[in-house]
Amino acid sequence: MTKIDEKLEPILAEVLRRNAGETEFHQAVIEVLESLGRVIAKKPYYADHALIERLCEPERQIIFRVPWVDDQGQVQINRGFRVQFNSALGPYKGGLRFHPSVNLGIIKFLGFEQIFKNALTGLPIGGGKGGSDFNPRGRSEGEVMRFCQSFMTELQRHLGEYTDVPAGDIGVGGREIGYLFGQFKRLTNRYEAGVLTGKGLVYGGSRARTEATGFGATYFVSSMLATKGMDFDGRKCVVSGSGNVAIYTIEKIRQFGGIVIACSDSNGYIVDESGIDLDLVKEIKEIRRERISQYARRKGNDTHYIEGGSIWDVPCDVAMPSATQNELTGKDARALVKNGVVAVGEGANMPCTPDAVREFQGAGVLFGPGKAANAGGVATSALEMQQNASRDSWSFEKTEERLAAIMRNIHDTCAETAEEYGAPGDYVLGANIAGFERVAAAMTAFGVI
Ligand code: NDP
Repeated sequence: MTKIDEKLEPILAEVLRRNAGETEFHQAVIEVLESLGRVIAKKPYYADHALIERLCEPERQIIFRVPWVDDQGQVQINRGFRVQFNSALGPYKGGLRFHPSVNLGIIKFLGFEQIFKNALTGLPIGGGKGGSDFNPRGRSEGEVMRFCQSFMTELQRHLGEYTDVPAGDIGVGGREIGYLFGQFKRLTNRYEAGVLTGKGLVYGGSRARTEATGFGATYFVSSMLATKGMDFDGRKCVVSGSGNVAIYTIEKIRQFGGIVIACSDSNGYIVDESGIDLDLVKEIKEIRRERISQYARRKGNDTHYIEGGSIWDVPCDVAMPSATQNELTGKDARALVKNGVVAVGEGANMPCTPDAVREFQGAGVLFGPGKAANAGGVATSALEMQQNASRDSWSFEKTEERLAAIMRNIHDTCAETAEEYGAPGDYVLGANIAGFERVAAAMTAFGVI
């Protein structure tokens, strides 16, 4: 059930036909097209020269074989992807995801979202995404390194600081970026620091990049709460996941006086009513790379671990889904609304199903979509590129200040755009339209390419 403008219906039909079976990609395109009807009613020239059709077609899609040898001497073969979706505003920019669920449709949905997200940051970056169906879980250091080296051996021919600049995502953190950058440098004989972001501090990384997505999402929710005269202080929060985004969301919520009472991994969730002990989560997930169930074992009686189940059954004021796509369903949203949630900010990409988004918006819950709320990561990646280009390195405070200002600006842009297009408070519409207008203006200037 979509509310697509009739002029856009044939475009959607063609996207569905040409990209059969890519359900996540369809979902992302539908959400954006639902918003664009209002734009072409006001500015019909944006529908000229097949601009929207071109926007839905990646500029380039690369699929490649990644062979590597495991610790038993067996040859393993994975599939690598890089979708260079749109370079109207700058070099392709977007993370790499290593997870067994990765396929072309997932990379295309992420790349498509990335176009609008990157445009919203106001920085000169286009949209792209990549990854592999490689599962790092349970693999040794040596296996992860050999996989990363083989992956980069092919990918390097498509990268460059003015061409395409990947970063991390699920399954790709500082360790993997180190191996990828090392192999890039070795193959090209170029110390081109601006070719990857999320790097370690000693070899060209930016302070606050690790924290940026979670910190930024929390800033975004804080701005949404402020429009209603509210803040985080004393509020109960639930954050799904326990990876990069979740950990630094929990950290910033705590700094803002909120109490995070639950987090999760793909096996289950923990509830700690006294407030999650973040040092323990970091030790379990970042250092030991164990399951979140260890938290309850170590912490003792006052915490619970629930295997399976839904973390969204835990009553809270603020919910920040920060694990993966479609992890929060319509049913989950109804449970959250019933329990009195006032704001939802997407730390992950598209974690709420379309049904869930409708539930939140229908109930008047403040809802921040991922392409706006989690844009702090890629924005800080662009700041990392800036530092690399000028051979400079900023302090944590300066970088975080820039991040906070960017997030405030994204919030205000989305809010003002929603207002301008007759849907005050609709951050989904505001984000889609504001992002689209920037990209569309550049694409129009370039002519049909
Ligand atoms: P991490 O790999 O660091 O953490 C992912 C977390 O989500 C883990 O706790 C993982 O649990 C859980 N998870 C992954 N897949 C599933 C699944 N199918 N079901 C339930 N839980 C799952 O990734 P990030 O924190 O970097 O990324 C999280 C989300 O944020 C993704 O949607 C990503 O695209 C998005 N994002 C990330 C940015 C970044 O800068 N890192 C920037 C913008 C968006 P387990 O350990 O069990 O796998």
